[in-house]
Amino acid sequence: MSDIGNNTGALSGEPRELRSLNADEAGRILVEWGHKSYRVTQLLGWLYKKRAGSIDEMTDLPKGLRDQLAGAFFLKPLELAKEQRSRDGTVKFLWRLADGELIESVLIPASIGRDGSQSDRHTLCVSSQVGCAYGCKFCASGLMGYKRNLDAYEIVDQVLAVERWQLTKDGDAPKQEALVNNIVMMGMGEPLANYANLTRALEIFNSPWGLNIGARKITVSTSGLAPQIRQLAETPQQYHLAISLHGATDDVRDKIMPINRKYPLEELISACEAYQQAKGRMIWVEYILIDGINTGLDQVEALGCLAKRLQCKVNLIPYNPVDGIGLKRPSDEAVGRFRDALYQRGIRVTVRIEKGTDIDAACGQLRLKSEKQPTAARS
Ligand code: SAH
Ligand code: SF4
Repeated sequence: MSDIGNNTGALSGEPRELRSLNADEAGRILVEWGHKSYRVTQLLGWLYKKRAGSIDEMTDLPKGLRDQLAGAFFLKPLELAKEQRSRDGTVKFLWRLADGELIESVLIPASIGRDGSQSDRHTLCVSSQVGCAYGCKFCASGLMGYKRNLDAYEIVDQVLAVERWQLTKDGDAPKQEALVNNIVMMGMGEPLANYANLTRALEIFNSPWGLNIGARKITVSTSGLAPQIRQLAETPQQYHLAISLHGATDDVRDKIMPINRKYPLEELISACEAYQQAKGRMIWVEYILIDGINTGLDQVEALGCLAKRLQCKVNLIPYNPVDGIGLKRPSDEAVGRFRDALYQRGIRVTVRIEKGTDIDAACGQLRLKSEKQPTAARS
C-alpha cells in the first residue's frame, strides 16, 4: 500500500477510505494482491456506480478480496445530521463526518424554463473544507474559522450520499438516472486551498469509471488563489472556473476579502487570463452586492473594465444576510440599477435568482446555526 502516494492526505500506512482511490491505484493494489484485473472494474462499480455503503454489500467480489479490502481500507458513508427543504425545491443537507465535524451540501433543482418545462437537472453545491481560513467579511464560513481540509472521499461522498438519499426519500420509486449532473464547488471552504484532495475528487466526479459527470458541468469557485488557478489551468480537464470577485478595485476588495492583500487584483486577473488561454473557455465572475460596500458607480466602472478585459459574464448575487454579520442586502432597485449600468457598458450580466433563502442556503449558514444550537441540528 505504500506505493499509492499521499495525494488524498491520508498518512502512508494508515487505513484509507476506499472512495479516495482512483482507478490506477485500485488496479495496482488488486493486482499486487493477486486478483484478476476485471475485479477492479467491479470494485469501482460498487464504489461509484452502485454507491455501496459498506464492503459487505459487494457480494460479487470473492470473500477473500472483501476481507483484504476490509483489512486495508475502510468505507464510512457520511451521516445525515439534518435535512432542510425549501419551498422552491432546494434541499440543504448537514452531514456529520467520522470525527464529528459538520459540513453541508445544497441540492438545487433546475429552474422552470420560460415555456413552463422543468428539466431533471440538479446541481449540487459541495463543500471542500470544514470552515474556511480566508475570513471574508461577509461569509458565514469565514466567521467560523478554519478547522480542516476534507479528504477526497468526504468531497466525493457528498454527491454519492445525495444519490443514496434520493433512493430512500418519500418512498419514491428508485430512479435509474443519477440525480446530480452538475457540481459546483461553492459550499463551505476554499477549494483551491485543498488542492490535492480537490483534484482527486474532481477526477472521481469526471472519470468514466467514477461518476462520469462532464468536466464542463463541474465548476470550481475561488476567492482568488492566483497560483492555484495557474496550476489548475495546467490540468487537461475543461473544469469551469468561477471567481468570487465582490470588489472591482483593490481598496474595496482589501476591505472585505483579506486574500486580496496576498494576491491583489492585477495578479488575480492575469491568472484568470492564463486559465482562459489554457482552456479556451470563458470564466464567470461572481459579484455579491452588499449594501453601501461595493455597489457604487466607481465599482460599476471598474467591474465593467475587468469584465471587458476577461470577456467574461458577470453574475450579480444580492447578499444573503448572515446572523452575527452586520451587512445588508441592497434594495431591488439598487440591484437593478447596478445591473443596468453594467449592461449599458456592454457587459453580459445576470442577477442570480436565489434559491433556498428560507432555509439559509448561503455558504456556511446552516452549519453556523447548528453550532449555535447543537440540539437543533439533530433530526
Ligand atoms: N471559497 C470559495 C467557494 C465557497 S463560497 C469562494 O469564495 O469562491 C461560494 C460563494 O458564495 C462565493 O462566491 C461566496 O462569496 C458566496 N457567499 C458567501 N457568503 C455569502 C452570502 N452571505 N450571500 C451570498 N453569497 C455568499
Ligand atoms: Fe472562505 Fe469563500 Fe467564504 Fe471567503 S467566501 S470565507 S474564501 S468560503
